[in-house]
Formats: sequence, C-alpha cells, structure tokens
Amino acid sequence: MNRKYRKTVIAGNWKMNMLASEIKPFMEELKENLPKTRTCEMVLCTPAVMIPAMIKAGKDCKVAAGGEDVSKYEKGAYTGEVSASQLADVGAKYCIVGHSERRQYHGEDDMLVNAKAKALIEKGIIPIICVGESLEQREMDLTMEYVAYQVKAALSGIDATKLRRCIIAYEPIWAIGTGKTATAEQAQEVCEGIRAVIRGIYGARPARAVSILYGGSMNAKNAAELLAQPDIDGGLIGGASLKPVDFATIIKATDQE
Ligand code: PEP
Repeated sequence: MNRKYRKTVIAGNWKMNMLASEIKPFMEELKENLPKTRTCEMVLCTPAVMIPAMIKAGKDCKVAAGGEDVSKYEKGAYTGEVSASQLADVGAKYCIVGHSERRQYHGEDDMLVNAKAKALIEKGIIPIICVGESLEQREMDLTMEYVAYQVKAALSGIDATKLRRCIIAYEPIWAIGTGKTATAEQAQEVCEGIRAVIRGIYGARPARAVSILYGGSMNAKNAAELLAQPDIDGGLIGGASLKPVDFATIIKATDQE
C-alpha cells in the first residue's frame, strides 16, 4: 500500500451468495469486530437486488455498496440486464467488471469489459476492473504479457481524468476460490507490472494514483503480508468476505505502516 498517493480499498464480492435478510445480522457482527477507526474504503459488492438492503444496513459501518456486473447498454429492450443508471439510482458507488467468472461462464471479452467500464464511469460509478492470467498462461510464462493486454484493452478510450475513477483488480484465475493464493512476491510483481503498463499509457502521476487490488483467496491469515506490498492497494475478496470476523480482520490488516 502507499497511502500517500492512493486510496486503500477492501472490496468484498459476495457473488450469488447470501440473502437480503442476512445482511443486517452480517453487519451487526462486522461492526462488533471492526476497528474503531479505519483508513481504508470498505465496499461490499452484491447482486443488484441486494444493493438497497446493503446501503440501509451498511450505513452504520460506512460500507459502500457495489454491483457485480452491469450492462454495456444505457437503457432499452435488454431483458434481464441492469444498467449503470439503475445501479447509480439505487446508490451503488462501485461495480465489478470483467470478473473471471463472467469471462469464463458468460463469454465476456475485453471489448465488452471496456464498454462496461465506460458505462459505469459515465454514471459516476467506480469500475473495479478485473484482470488475471490462467494457470496455463502462468506456466507458459505469459502472465505479464496477457495481463498487460487485458489492462490496455479495458482502459482503451478512457482518458486520464476518468482513470482516476477506476480501480484495477489483479486476480489470477488459478487463485480464485481455490485456496491457492499468489505469494506476496508474485502478486506484487504483477501489480507493479500493471502500474508500469498504466504509466506507459498515461504517465507517472496518473499511474501513481491508481489503486490496484489483489484478489484470489485473500483471507484473514495472508492479508497482512499481501497488503504490505508497495503496489497492492487493497483486496477484492470472495469467500472471506462472507464471514464478518474474517472480513473485519482483513480490514484491520490495512492498518500497518
Ligand atoms: C473473487 O471472486 O473475486 C475472489 C477473489 O474470490 P476468493 O477470495 O474466494 O478467491
């Protein structure tokens, strides 16, 4: 983390778990375990239908609500889709785009991820843009090449002022939901590489200001070491964000020098 230049963000990704009725008890337990003061932004991304309940129950703990996906379209006959305006209207401040599960199960490509990020920025929502390599790509030593390509594609046509409204999440696919975390060195190496790619496009100052999160089996035990890396500005957390005590422990891990 480097708090001098950028925001620390701990974002949970609840995926298709939990019910709206479970949010209040979750928040009560979270509140009991959170430190009195905190220096990070805390976000919980949920299915769109749960966002209003998250905002209501999360007020006390100052949790910002986020979506997990958005339509690239502004409005119209797109049955089942949720637009960026609709997310903004119910109070979402963040939204994940390009999660590997969406790329894998819903065929999302880099162009679509880019269109979704732009749709969110347009409505004042911060996209959390996910990138990351497969195990096969890592083993073939293609990690940085592939991740650099994803970053460039996702940010295509987004200017430096809008970049300030974006977060990148490095999520190696092989580490998501598997219990296999990237080592702190591996995660730092790629996050540093992502910042270098951004520097190449936008220059030093914008690159220095972008928050880059790590995601992939981050948990209460390994968070402190990962967050101690200079280019890791927070976490995108799946499984551990469903457990209030573990999530609170990760939040506490951001309070280090
Ligand atoms: C995720 O889904 O973004 C994720 C990082 O999941 P997990 O923490 O469970 O690996």
